[in-house]
Amino acid sequence: MKILVPVKRVIDYNVKPRVKADGTGVDLANVKMSMNPFDEIAVEEAIRLKEKGAATEIVAVSVGPAKAAETLRTALAMGADRAILIETDEEVEPLAVAKILKAIADEEAPGLVILGKQSISDDSNQTGQMLAALMGRPQGTFANTVEVEGDAVIVKREVDGGLQTVKLTMPAIVTTDLRLNEPRYASLPNIMKAKQKPLATKTAADYGVDLAPRLKTLKVAEPPVRKAGEKVADVAALVEKVKALGIA
Ligand code: AMP
Repeated sequence: MKILVPVKRVIDYNVKPRVKADGTGVDLANVKMSMNPFDEIAVEEAIRLKEKGAATEIVAVSVGPAKAAETLRTALAMGADRAILIETDEEVEPLAVAKILKAIADEEAPGLVILGKQSISDDSNQTGQMLAALMGRPQGTFANTVEVEGDAVIVKREVDGGLQTVKLTMPAIVTTDLRLNEPRYASLPNIMKAKQKPLATKTAADYGVDLAPRLKTLKVAEPPVRKAGEKVADVAALVEKVKALGIA
């Protein structure tokens, strides 16, 4: 069984994003970029399934600028077998990514597509669900555990009240939640080996997908600054304050 793992290049999670002065987006100049953390978890899960003998090949896919090849090399260094870069300098929306992934899935016929639950750049949480709809296949989102059982995959999903277990007939789409696993670091020898692994470069047009945006960003703004707290002398003073706020 083949596993397709879409990985997105995003601002590194340790970096505090800066909003552009004109409010049109986030400033990406000289900012450290990395693989979306949920996608690292997706790559790790695919590798673990391969190590258990449930999968035979892992194909990493990224839609993004030429530099997204670095993100794919990271996936290859972790343990993916080959990679496909769909190169574009446009900002791509989840629907366009889902359409490209659908076209790739038609070609590659994976048993599983494992995506992150959301990209920390746009926080959309849409691509996996849209892909499942376009492919007409079952989805197990927010996965906490993933087990392959014959032609099915059992996914424990993180839901508000706890864990929900679903059984999906493959091909199926899974999206990863934070507690699914702890991704491995790529070792230096594996980083070197990854340079020899195949990486194909394509365009959206090769898959007949038009990347024109369907959404218009009206404004991007910093979150409001949190107001400083206030210390009170004792409980009585606190009660007075709360009363004054009219919430008690
Ligand atoms: P989103 O719907 O944008 O929150 O993204 C959810 C997941 O879809 C991500 O964690 C990735 O696995 C995948 N994804 C989104 N955008 C891309 C992209 N440009 N290239 C590859 N995978 C992507």
